[in-house]
Amino acid sequence: MLVTTKTEEILQKQRCFFQTGKTRAIDFRREALKTLKHLLIADREKILLALKQDFNKSNFESIETELLFCTRQIDYTLKNLKSWIKPDKVPASLFQLPASARIVAEPLGIILIIGAWNYPVQLTLSPLISAIAAGNCAIIKPSEITSRTSVAIAHLIGQAFPSEYITVIEGGKDIVRDLIAHKFDRIFFTGSSRVGQIIMEAAAKHLTPVTLELGGKSPCIIEPDIDLDITARRVAWGKFLNCGQTCIAPDYVLIHRSIKTAFLKKIQEKIEQFYGSDPERSPDYAKIVNDFHFQRLLSAIEPQKVVIGGKSNAETRYIAPTVMDGVTWDDRIMEEEIFGPILPVLEYEDLEAAIAQINARPKPLALYLFTNKKKTRERVLQATSSGNVCLNDTLMQIVSEHLPFGGVGESGMGTSHGKIGFNTFSHQKSILQRSFWLDLPLRYPPYTEIKAKFFNFFLR
Ligand code: NAD
Repeated sequence: MLVTTKTEEILQKQRCFFQTGKTRAIDFRREALKTLKHLLIADREKILLALKQDFNKSNFESIETELLFCTRQIDYTLKNLKSWIKPDKVPASLFQLPASARIVAEPLGIILIIGAWNYPVQLTLSPLISAIAAGNCAIIKPSEITSRTSVAIAHLIGQAFPSEYITVIEGGKDIVRDLIAHKFDRIFFTGSSRVGQIIMEAAAKHLTPVTLELGGKSPCIIEPDIDLDITARRVAWGKFLNCGQTCIAPDYVLIHRSIKTAFLKKIQEKIEQFYGSDPERSPDYAKIVNDFHFQRLLSAIEPQKVVIGGKSNAETRYIAPTVMDGVTWDDRIMEEEIFGPILPVLEYEDLEAAIAQINARPKPLALYLFTNKKKTRERVLQATSSGNVCLNDTLMQIVSEHLPFGGVGESGMGTSHGKIGFNTFSHQKSILQRSFWLDLPLRYPPYTEIKAKFFNFFLR
């Protein structure tokens, strides 16, 4: 692997800066968070424009899912930081007495944040907020695919912070290869499972801990006992937001046979309500990020199975909100995460069969279940494993600062958001403090019979 001196220089500077201890002071962390929030708001027009140029993301969605997501996280962090930093006093064990014990959240050091392109601001700045809160320095590598947003992020960070504290390194996979050849104190990676493996392999050489926020095929189970209108609206929103390019988008629907036809009708109605009769002309509908993904998605559509949408335009990289019916697990669309505006619908008669289909595949990042029945809810929750679950809605689980966000198995490892995100970038250091006023000889050699009796007394 190539190791460049330029990266080494930046890392050395950051290590020196970290060693000064400045990043540990709570006031320093607070100021950094306030500066970041201020610049996110001050630079909003530039960021919104970059997101629009990159993939026609509407200002509404950019504010909702990128800017507001970050500013709310900053507010929440500022409100709670003092209590997160406060050492956690815990009881000392009988054998340690007299003593006091505490757990201190210690900053890790230098963090590498590698982002994906689908929410390029949120996916780089949200982990940064947690890394700052925990007292670290950071290097950010935004996705090169959303290149204008990458420039906007670099500009924002360049204004906000000196590079020995936080800096952006732009570029593609060669830059990532160079970065991960170096030693960091944590790598926070968001992207595909394929690249996640590359990251983990490189990190292993330095025993660098990794957080991997990956993807997968997130199922959406729909039982017959639901409010069909609201269900269709929530599924259509979660699927077609950001043109389906959302890691926790419902990848496919598993629906009870008895309501499938009615559901398809409702989905069509919702698509029209959201984007009009010609979504290509809707200012609220994003486009596919690049030609590679456009072609990848087109090749997964089987025209004879399309029941809604299906239209595309290579020039504008437009793919209509598309629904495919009569889909089976042998179809191309079911081979990998879709990550685009195509919703395959599979039907079932027996809920157990639906559960078995999910469990026969890698653990998904998210699982959605629409039902009013407690028994059904509990059955699905205990019989399946996924990074997160949202009952009777889509995507909304990510909005809470109180719920950890992350995958399980192939969909990732480690968690972010809120206090848990702060913990991700901290080392929970155990500290035991003893005094000199009592030093019982019990544990010291020679191990006399009476000492052995004392310890044996507890062995029951
Ligand atoms: P990606 O894995 O292709 O790229 C992610 C990052 O890795 C980019 O910064 C890119 O420069 C770098 N990269 C790409 N190829 C590389 C290589 N061969 N060697 C080293 N680095 C490389 O992912 P993407 O296309 O940007 O994003 C889509 C994926 O991300 C989907 O699978 C999606 O589900 C997942 N995702 C997950 C989350 C989450 O929070 N779990 C959020 C968003 C996206």
